[in-house]
Amino acid sequence: MNIREQKEAADALRIAALVYEHSSEAMMVTDAANHILSINPAFTRITGYGFEEVAGRNPQCMSSGRHDALFYRQMWDSLLAKGTWCGEVWNRRKNGEEYPEWLTINTITAPDGSVQRYLAQFSDITEKKRTEETIWRQANFDSLTGLPNRRLLIERLGHEMRKAERSGLSVAALFIDLDDFKQVNDVFGHDIGDLLLVEASRRIASHLRATDIVARLSGDEFVAVLPDFSHIGDIERVVQDVLQALARPFLLVHETAFVSASIGVAFYPQDVSSAEELIRYADQAMYAAKGAGRNRHCYFTAAMQQQSVERMRLVQDLRVAIEKKQLRLHFQPVVDLADGSVLKAEALVRWQHPERGMVGPGAFIQVAEETGLIAPIGDWVFCEAARWASRWSVLTGKTFQVSVNKSPLQFLAPKSLSWADHLCSLGLPGQAIVVEITEGVLLNASGDVDRQLQTYRDAGMQIAIDDFGTGYSSMAYLKKFAIDYLKIDRSFIRDMATNEDDRAIAETIILMARRLGIKVIAEGIETEEQKALLRAAGCQYGQGYLFSHPLPPEKFETLLQAGYPEPGIIHAEISAQPQLIGL
Ligand code: C2E
Ligand code: MG
Ligand code: MG
Repeated sequence: MNIREQKEAADALRIAALVYEHSSEAMMVTDAANHILSINPAFTRITGYGFEEVAGRNPQCMSSGRHDALFYRQMWDSLLAKGTWCGEVWNRRKNGEEYPEWLTINTITAPDGSVQRYLAQFSDITEKKRTEETIWRQANFDSLTGLPNRRLLIERLGHEMRKAERSGLSVAALFIDLDDFKQVNDVFGHDIGDLLLVEASRRIASHLRATDIVARLSGDEFVAVLPDFSHIGDIERVVQDVLQALARPFLLVHETAFVSASIGVAFYPQDVSSAEELIRYADQAMYAAKGAGRNRHCYFTAAMQQQSVERMRLVQDLRVAIEKKQLRLHFQPVVDLADGSVLKAEALVRWQHPERGMVGPGAFIQVAEETGLIAPIGDWVFCEAARWASRWSVLTGKTFQVSVNKSPLQFLAPKSLSWADHLCSLGLPGQAIVVEITEGVLLNASGDVDRQLQTYRDAGMQIAIDDFGTGYSSMAYLKKFAIDYLKIDRSFIRDMATNEDDRAIAETIILMARRLGIKVIAEGIETEEQKALLRAAGCQYGQGYLFSHPLPPEKFETLLQAGYPEPGIIHAEISAQPQLIGL
């Protein structure tokens, strides 16, 4: 019996020894005074120390110095009270390298309760920590600029707001959006665009204190958080510095790019109560800065909040406007200045809102562009315009030409209706439609825009440049894209009778266009004097209140049937027209 027990005990010991020898966890046994008695091979593997180098020494010899006295006191308190402790410890290897380990210490006591041995087991968690760190970085930082992302921004902002609550100071959020960044991407490509973003983030950060936060939200949107400032003047100075820094040229590889920035500023606790709200309100203020002309800043105001609520309502209403048949097309005649005849009209969209009345395009086109609703609205406008063009061609016995405005955003929208196919199905010649685009469309022309314009040409449709003179006004583009009409912007026509420069500009545009074989339409003619000047300068077509306001199709048709009456008669028609309202 005794021998069998002895043999079993010996077997158990042998197994224990095997485990000790081959465990991947480091093990170390110390005596009651914490002097090292034994270590296993995994210990040597992790720490680099052999047994003879640590035998009899206190494990303190491996400490990294990262933990303070309190940390070790709490470890010993737990060991004495509960007989066990576990946690993360930074130690130092024999080669001097610091590393994190997950350590468990257990106390082995004699039958009388006194401490006999301590058994420490640990594993090296360097790799695990590295993976965790990578995952954490990916979740919290933007990989391009290395700046915190929205998630980390919200977290840190929350922290700063709680601090501000205690200190009674304020937190400012600057929402920074680059102006014209898309153009940099389009013109120079995304690699250069990326370089610009990195440089922009560096420039923004260089004007902030170490305690401020800069984050990249997306694309070309950055947020800077300035905690505990006491003077609005401090914010003003930072904002001006950042604006100036971003307006300086960016030298990127062999290219020089120019952008500027629009900045919106909101304050906690003055304006908002939560981190998300602070960013949203600063965003709204940024939006106002863009609207006011870019390369500037705006502070958040209650009125902006009101506007944003209105805008949200507008978006909701606009979503159902087509379905509920609330959109209307009005037509403004384009008059042949030589003989006063009308064989063209511009289609202008309106929205018969159930509560607001007749809403002009100025109040909803931009929102439609931002929400993507411009694509279905644009298609509706086109179909409606084609329908009337077809009818009036029959009525006048000639191809009646209707022009439709096409927003730059429509060129980017995913393909919906093919305008060329639609004309085919109506049996309408392409010449019945003129597509009005702005100069920006040509300037940013990607292959896609080029192709779309080409399909219009192929279908016989014509192209007009709207609001000419307000953008880049590049004659080279006009030639390259085979433009049919130029529409001189109203601003030049308005003052041409009184302002020499505007008159010179209008006359020069007419002259150059004629030389290029492009027809000219003067927009916004309101007086006989303007009309006479334009005629004298050789302008073929005119459009404006002098001839007629935009009219509902039925009224426009009456006008067509009557031939072209005197301006005064049409004005009488207009007084019956519902007043357009803006928002
Ligand atoms: P636009 O294409 O330059 O259209 C001319 C604008 O000038 C029209 O304003 C017209 O009513 C106004 N106008 C015409 N003659 C005179 C005049 O003698 N004096 C003055 N002061 N104004 C005159 P409306 O209808 O408010 O349209 C504004 C802008 O909205 C248009 O400018 C166009 O860019 C855009 N828009 C209109 N309809 C559409 C549409 O269906 N799609 C798109 N994408 N944009 C549209
Ligand atoms: Mg137009
Ligand atoms: Mg125009």
